[in-house]
Amino acid sequence: MQFEELQLIEPLLRAVQAAGYTQPTPIQAQAIPFVMDQRDILGCAQTGTGKTAAFALPIIQRLAATKPAGGRYLRALVLAPTRELASQIGESFDVYGRFTPVRQITIFGGISQKPQVNRLQRGADVLIATPGRLLDLMGQGYVRLDRLEFLVLDEADRMLDMGFIHDVRRIIAKVPRQRQTLLFSATMPSDIQSLADDILTNPAHVAVTPVASTVETIQQAVYFVEKPHKPALLQHLLDDNAMQRVLVFTRTKHGANKVVTQLERASVNAEAIHGNKSQSARERALAGFKAGKIRVLVATDIASRGIDVDNITHVVNYDLPNEPESYVHRIGRTGRAGASGMAYSFCDTTERPYLRDIERLIQQHIPKEAGHPYESQSGKPAITELAPRNGNSRPSRPGNSYGNGRKSQSQPGGSNGGNGGGKSRSQRRRSNRGFRGSTASPDNSR
Ligand code: AMP
Repeated sequence: MQFEELQLIEPLLRAVQAAGYTQPTPIQAQAIPFVMDQRDILGCAQTGTGKTAAFALPIIQRLAATKPAGGRYLRALVLAPTRELASQIGESFDVYGRFTPVRQITIFGGISQKPQVNRLQRGADVLIATPGRLLDLMGQGYVRLDRLEFLVLDEADRMLDMGFIHDVRRIIAKVPRQRQTLLFSATMPSDIQSLADDILTNPAHVAVTPVASTVETIQQAVYFVEKPHKPALLQHLLDDNAMQRVLVFTRTKHGANKVVTQLERASVNAEAIHGNKSQSARERALAGFKAGKIRVLVATDIASRGIDVDNITHVVNYDLPNEPESYVHRIGRTGRAGASGMAYSFCDTTERPYLRDIERLIQQHIPKEAGHPYESQSGKPAITELAPRNGNSRPSRPGNSYGNGRKSQSQPGGSNGGNGGGKSRSQRRRSNRGFRGSTASPDNSR
């Protein structure tokens, strides 16, 4: 499939080519024709699949084709859960719409509203917003949504997690009923399904990379290590120069700061990105990371959503997430849009139940890295039974890894976990150029 086959207008074809894209991603190939056909969409896709272009390209095309005479008013609204995601969507609209007259404004909280209000008063076709700031500015009379033609909800499940769903419903109540609505979500919990039932009309369903299937190009490994040894293990791994652009996940903001301090002591360039950081500090950290000045970015789950940096060579789960879906989101930060990448996970004794939940969700055993210098001495974990989960319910989590009265099984081959344990890190190391070909350089798409 080529972009030309999607009936995109020439200015958009030129823009995707300038962005270095050669072919539509699967979500783009599926969704773009439906949006052009004026269908509502229920899309199950994670960030990293190219879903922004899947909605931005056809919306820009339709807006450009039917430019209203006289005055500029908001014709499309994109709601996103975080500032980072909103600003990245805004940048994408700029990139894709650069050869068209379609213009966007992005608004989010945490910074002064004045420049945003000034821009709103000058007018735009597309508004990208986080729900809180949008409601604020609507309340003050700066935003009118009564002539909207397109409504997009991006990462709807994350909006639900972050408690924005009522705000979202309040905003939707102010949008004309006669409109085209696109809803994207990485997972489809029942609350999102019922929101979809309420706001979509006869939607086309599009789905790629269901959350339970980890991106295939990402190579994964688990390191059994006790908590006090995690800093030393991270530094040991970072001795490998192949770890060029590394995203490290911690469970807490405090944990993120601590990891940064430890890395700085070891002369590794690192920055943290989380909700306690000011907007400008986050933007500086992200820009430094994109530019390659910061080698390690340490993030919490929420702050990481929408981090759209190409060529992240490695993701390190310094702490394992207690929500197994977060594991899939996290490791999806490497291997973006088809590129290869590596994901290392540190697992201490208390985190072994989380590992089991993750392996059950992704329906695979993550290869265990045996024989590393900081290996945990607290025995070998049982091999996770990959029994299918019951419907949507999570497997229950015992208080310790060997609860439920089950005996721990010994592992074949004497390794810490069986499959893949004997493979060294260097054997698994791979080039990270796959998707755009060898001529692509980091960040050439933005
Ligand atoms: P998204 O899921 O929209 O956040 O996109 C993930 C990444 O894939 C971004 O860095 C995009 O610039 C990139 N991307 C989107 N579409 C394509 C494409 N057709 N070819 C190559 N890269 C793409």
